Amino acid sequence: MNTRKYVLSENDMPRQWYNIVADLPTPMLPVLHPGTKQPITPDDLAPIFPMEIIKQEASQERWIDIPEQVLDIYRLWRPAPLYRARNLEKVLDTPAKIYYKYEGVSPAGSHKPNTAVAQAYYNKIEGVKRITTETGAGQWGSALSLACTFFGIECKVYMVRVSFEQKPYRRSMIMNWGASVIPSPSDQTEAGRRILAQNPDTTGSLGIAISEAVEEAVSRDDTKYSLGSVLNHVLLHQTIIGLEAQKQMELAGDYPDIVIGCVGGGSNFGGIAFPFLRDKFQGKKVHAIAVEPHACPTITRGHFAYDFGDTAQMTPLMAMYTLGHSFIPPGIHAGGLRYHGMAPLISHLVREKQIEPRAYHQLEVFEAALMFSRSEGIIPAPESSHAIRGAIDEALKAKAEGTSKTILFNLSGHGHFDMSAYDAFLAGKLQDYALPEEELDKAYSVIQHHPPISA
Ligand SMILES: *Cc1c(COP(=O)(O)O)cnc(C)c1O
Repeated sequence: MNTRKYVLSENDMPRQWYNIVADLPTPMLPVLHPGTKQPITPDDLAPIFPMEIIKQEASQERWIDIPEQVLDIYRLWRPAPLYRARNLEKVLDTPAKIYYKYEGVSPAGSHKPNTAVAQAYYNKIEGVKRITTETGAGQWGSALSLACTFFGIECKVYMVRVSFEQKPYRRSMIMNWGASVIPSPSDQTEAGRRILAQNPDTTGSLGIAISEAVEEAVSRDDTKYSLGSVLNHVLLHQTIIGLEAQKQMELAGDYPDIVIGCVGGGSNFGGIAFPFLRDKFQGKKVHAIAVEPHACPTITRGHFAYDFGDTAQMTPLMAMYTLGHSFIPPGIHAGGLRYHGMAPLISHLVREKQIEPRAYHQLEVFEAALMFSRSEGIIPAPESSHAIRGAIDEALKAKAEGTSKTILFNLSGHGHFDMSAYDAFLAGKLQDYALPEEELDKAYSVIQHHPPISA
């Protein structure tokens, strides 16, 4: 039988997350306090995160139990299906086998609720009444508002202004789930007012919105902050993707030679890849590829350095690949991949050559997205389409070499709220952006005074 879909029962859903920190071949560099430049302590983070999240952020435990109440909500859409892309294989006329894990089945349409639900839960049990956050294109804001509504927590979302104006439906979703959403920069925080005074017409950026959300959380006792990517605990929560995929590949009687994901902050890629990297550390042959846009080339052209997570320099300093905290990328349609930094865990593994970094241009990504929707049916998010491009290229390479490869990629979300981007592509109105070296140098120059890292 030509099986197309591998489904697990609710009983087969993993009950623990996998913490790759326990298995890293080399240790990571510490996160530093932005003022003292000394390693941060749990007390430093207590104003913005609940204690259980802080513990997970620093945890060395390999397996961490998923709380029963979190599992209970996961069961609304998990286990997520794993598909064999038989039609795409046929179109490509490739000997490669292509599998994809589909995270678009969540109510918010992406992988992001996997961590949003966990974070809202830990805030709830520690008595937190309000959560602030930022959102770019709105995927994270909608995921967190969904999670907060399950736990009766008030949620306030600072949404990058250009998306607030151009993506009204994500904004509507956020409000539908009972959260409030305001365009960033706003006049409600000092960081926002400072930027508006300098540049009243700014389109905003993720870095600015993070500054606003953190500032509000620090200034109120009843409020904490939540981040949708980048941090260790977020990548931890997303490993349910890869742990399920491992069981499903077993059902298929197969094992991937290549695992691919797109990277913005690194959470969906870490989610699918980390359980397989665990196998790799134990000697298994598996190649992980992290795909980003050429327009925001953090791991392919950025520097490994200590930098802030936000524009106003309020967050701790993290050792990561970065383009500089004030870098504002061109307005490509994969909004979720427009972040100046990269998860320290992903950065560390790229630096240690455990992960191959790769970049694609917008047009070749949309071509891949159309090929996928016209063969497999699902209309992918522009972000996820970077992973699709990677999978197609690997399948074509296998064809050229006459080898059979097994490829697994993460389809992190659907593109139903990105149809205006597809319209623009079909009308021939999208363009590629080549970022000149001087522009990257200029953005990076702002961070060179931070603690140096030796090679
Ligand atoms: C947010 C988002 C991304 C990028 O974020 P990561 O943390 O790198 O996963 C990718 N795909 C989709 C569908 C998203 O919503």
